[in-house]
Amino acid sequence: MSYEAVIGLEVHAQLLTRSKMFCGCGTEFGLPPNTQVCPVCLGMPGSLPVVNKQAVEMAIRAGLALNCSIRPTNRFARKNYFYPDLPKGYQISQYEAPICEYGWIDLAVNGRSMRVRIRRAHLEEDAGKNIHASEAPGSLVDFNRAGTPLLEIVTEPEMGSAEEVVTYLKSLRDLLVYLDVCDGNMEEGSFRCEPNLSLRPVGATTLGTKVELKNINSFKFVKEALEYEIGRQTKVLLEGKTVHQETRLWDIERAQTVVMRSKEEAHDYRYFPDPDLVPLSISEEWIAELRETLQELPQARLQRFVTEYSLSEYDAGVLTSSRALADYFERCVKLFNQPKTISNFVMGELLRELNQTGSDVESSPVSPERLVELLGLVDNGSISLKMARELFPEVYASGKSPEQLVEEKGLRQVSDEGELGKIIVSVIQSNPTQVVQYREGKETVLGFLMGQVMKASGGKAHPQKVMELLKKALAG
Ligand code: ADP
Ligand code: ZN
Ligand code: MG
Repeated sequence: MSYEAVIGLEVHAQLLTRSKMFCGCGTEFGLPPNTQVCPVCLGMPGSLPVVNKQAVEMAIRAGLALNCSIRPTNRFARKNYFYPDLPKGYQISQYEAPICEYGWIDLAVNGRSMRVRIRRAHLEEDAGKNIHASEAPGSLVDFNRAGTPLLEIVTEPEMGSAEEVVTYLKSLRDLLVYLDVCDGNMEEGSFRCEPNLSLRPVGATTLGTKVELKNINSFKFVKEALEYEIGRQTKVLLEGKTVHQETRLWDIERAQTVVMRSKEEAHDYRYFPDPDLVPLSISEEWIAELRETLQELPQARLQRFVTEYSLSEYDAGVLTSSRALADYFERCVKLFNQPKTISNFVMGELLRELNQTGSDVESSPVSPERLVELLGLVDNGSISLKMARELFPEVYASGKSPEQLVEEKGLRQVSDEGELGKIIVSVIQSNPTQVVQYREGKETVLGFLMGQVMKASGGKAHPQKVMELLKKALAG
């Protein structure tokens, strides 16, 4: 008997609003504990929540980009449970009426295209954080994060491998970052994923018992945890035992999943509509207005790069992986109409420097204008492409103009006929044997003579020009 994996994902994306979901407190990460709190997000009796309009707009924009339909009437619900990081004893979430429903993301996995359907995406508030510090007598709670808006995005159970899941997650994250609704930072927890995994005999149509995985904060761990868990469940089934429905944690140290809680302890959340919040009406006009703000989405832009600039899917994919990089590329192309040359240079030289210095393209010390200036020097024969590549790290580090650097370092290629002529004459004079060989028909000697001229010029002679003049001189 062989089994196949069935995986569905729940992602919690922290929305990039300035204030929290139901109060005016700030949402900045990493501030001193309990400095971003008020009676509302601390759940004080008598305080009343007010919906953050910006969060709703972000949810709608994300929903539209995910091809979801947007519900005209929304209700918030209370999800009741007790935990120290949840001050009210319930979380405000959406239950039977999520703001976004029935969307999808199209993916390319290993050159094969697939669609992952989104079941729902709903708004909710985040909890605080429990801190178990060894120096403190007990556990501490930081409520700065309590009440931060989250969009929970839930897929249908239809991915089949860790690779598909990682592709889905990257694509979803890129999209949310592109839309400016989430910063996508997995380590800081602003993009958290919980995969649900079950196995079933290959070809079966019913679903097996699922296990939910938590504590996964990088793409690497997503892959490792899923692969481990597929192996574990396969073994259980092959031994004739049954998989238990439970929540398991990814244990980084031991590189395995461990039980966190079983179904028997699963919560009954006793959802009910939150009486403190009136239903939210979303008009057609509002949705249409927000649709206008979506601009061109990454996939459409990728396809346009392929057709408009004749780039490969791969190159177009890299260049549209962030809006800032795609904007940078297009600004360059506007200034210098050689998309392929620019694409190679941006993907090679620029991304290498950015990676090495840990910077992103928004703060690149080399502006599109500067990059294009350097490529212009290659185009007009002042320097070779090789020199441009070698010079780039210095342009990047010094912030100087490429023209100026080429002057300062005396790198300009020599294409002046008089100057090159002198060098050629002296090379011909000091290599009489090779000259005779060439004239007798041994053409390969040309390469040697060419090399001598390049060497004598300190590598600065313009190669095509040298070739042309050398042939002329040898013929004469
Ligand atoms: P729960 O009520 O436990 O939260 P849901 O039906 O809401 O379960 O599904 C939560 C997530 O788990 C969804 O992403 C869904 O696609 C996925 N899922 C549900 N059942 C299975 C299953 N049998 N195998 C794999 N994934 C599943
Ligand atoms: Zn508050
Ligand atoms: Mg659920």
